[in-house]
Amino acid sequence: MIDFALTEEQKACQKLVRDFALKEIVPVAHELDEEQRHSPEIVEKYHEIGLLHYAVPEEYGGAGLGSLEGCIFGEELGAACAGVAASLGGSILGLTPFLIAGSPELKEELLTKHTSGPNLGAFCLTEPDAGSDVAALRTTAVLEGDEYIINGSKRFITNGGVASLYSVFATENAELRHKGISAFMVPADTPGVSSGKKEDKMGQRATDTREVIFSDVHIPARYRLGEGLDGFKIAMKTLDDSRAGVGAAAVGIARAALEAARDYAKERVQFGKPIAAQQGIQFMLADMAMKVNAARLLCWHAAWLHDNGQRNTLESAIAKCFAGDTAMAVTTDAVQVLGGYGYMKEYPVEKYMRDAKLHQIYEGTNQIQRLVIARQILS
Ligand SMILES: Cc1cc2nc3c(=O)[nH]c(=O)nc-3n(C[C@H](O)[C@H](O)[C@H](O)COP(=O)(O)OP(=O)(O)OC[C@H]3O[C@@H](n4cnc5c(N)ncnc54)[C@H](O)[C@@H]3O)c2cc1C
Repeated sequence: MIDFALTEEQKACQKLVRDFALKEIVPVAHELDEEQRHSPEIVEKYHEIGLLHYAVPEEYGGAGLGSLEGCIFGEELGAACAGVAASLGGSILGLTPFLIAGSPELKEELLTKHTSGPNLGAFCLTEPDAGSDVAALRTTAVLEGDEYIINGSKRFITNGGVASLYSVFATENAELRHKGISAFMVPADTPGVSSGKKEDKMGQRATDTREVIFSDVHIPARYRLGEGLDGFKIAMKTLDDSRAGVGAAAVGIARAALEAARDYAKERVQFGKPIAAQQGIQFMLADMAMKVNAARLLCWHAAWLHDNGQRNTLESAIAKCFAGDTAMAVTTDAVQVLGGYGYMKEYPVEKYMRDAKLHQIYEGTNQIQRLVIARQILS
């Protein structure tokens, strides 16, 4: 039996986040983009409505919600401002390795404190020489007595410098490549943790992206997640879990662009009638709507599999890739529908187009998603 209806609770969640986004994010989205500014005020207010740590189980202070709810939130936030969506979503991404592989004792110790306030998480995987090739990472973790000492630097970290808790992937034996990697939780106030300059980005400028540096960072050995040397698996499982929500944020950008293009097309008169009366424009809008709907269903399906305990490596890669490509295509068409005005910062669609591009790059580029998909269907 297939049921595409959201439950009453999910509809209430959707309305809560849509109202929040319209009231707290949309009015400042342009300004945050112009000034390339992260907004702690929005984070605080999102925490006040109880959703900042939505995926954390209730026993550790979260809302205990699933991946499908994450898609609903991601779409609404993405439609309002993809930069803010990245910051709030990136926080959950940073906690996901912990949710997957943290012991109950460590969760009690670190997570309960983290969720008690408007604190952000961050996911530290990428390095200057290890982007798509995660197994090439060079950050080291050396066990000495009952402590690990971490050294290295992580590149392009969402919420870098503003997060309170980092999930960090480091190698205990570089020769073993992916089999030598372990995962750790590192509180940001640990001596030796620092952040680099804020990256000056094309889009999603309302989220801070920085290098995060670990210089002789001592952490208790119990801050290691899982069994040790299983960090690569934890990272891959994290990305399986998060890609539906990332895709949903891309759906949000595409939906906002479609709505802006539709409204403009009904208003803009050329050759004596609204451009929406031209079949050439209608076909563009129809194609945009088809892609948005298809991308949403792919994200919801991947999330549904996750929430029902089924592996979704294939489906989450398909969802993330299709939704990212959709966001790029639909926002580009939205700029086209608005003509010269679409190219101007006075209208929102050029921001949507800049924001959309990142969805083909982070959380694994869309080439890497295609590799994952091919590997799955060929195996
Ligand atoms: C704004 C922003 C925020 C980010 N946030 C985070 C974060 O919070 N945490 C984190 O850990 N990382 C983060 N990243 C890093 C992001 O995940 C990487 O940028 C991405 O995985 C690609 O790595 P790279 O930039 O080193 O590109 P490279 O791996 O150098 O790739 C360059 C190009 O080559 C292609 N390519 C590489 N290998 C192959 C292959 N085998 N086959 C075909 N094509 C290939 C890629 O698709 C890409 O087009 C962020 C990046 C950005 C830009």
